[in-house]
Amino acid sequence: MSNKPELVVIIQCEDVLNRCSGFLCMNDFYERAGKFEGYPSETRYMSITCGGCCGNITTKLENLGMRLRKAGISKDDVTVHFASCICSENSHRLPCPFMNRMKALLQHKGFGNIVLGTHISKKAEAKRQAGIYRKWE
Ligand code: SF4
Ligand code: SF4
Repeated sequence: MSNKPELVVIIQCEDVLNRCSGFLCMNDFYERAGKFEGYPSETRYMSITCGGCCGNITTKLENLGMRLRKAGISKDDVTVHFASCICSENSHRLPCPFMNRMKALLQHKGFGNIVLGTHISKKAEAKRQAGIYRKWE
């Protein structure tokens, strides 16, 4: 996995984004906190939604692949993060039941650097420790 990505792509849950602005994902990226710790300052980010259940992101990935090619960015220099609300139980919902499907689609389209998580909520972590929420997927 590239730990010095040129670009980070955050995939967020379309359903959750009806209620969440995505601010904490963005803020943690700029603060290099949560799952973004250690990324170089020059790493850029963008976010997309999954496109809704059942996570058919194929067309978006094809579009992204084409844009990356035109921009001269290798997919090896891209790291994809599933937003924490996709891969962990949280105040919004249980983990996405289609995450592994999306992961397989990403790999099929050549995006091999995949990280589970973005912002790490202290409250949700405490509930995981207490056994109230499931552990990370
Ligand atoms: S991880 Fe948190 S901030 Fe990011 S999209 Fe999900 S609910 Fe919103
Ligand atoms: S496929 Fe998963 S990430 Fe996308 S809207 Fe449905 S539950 Fe959310």
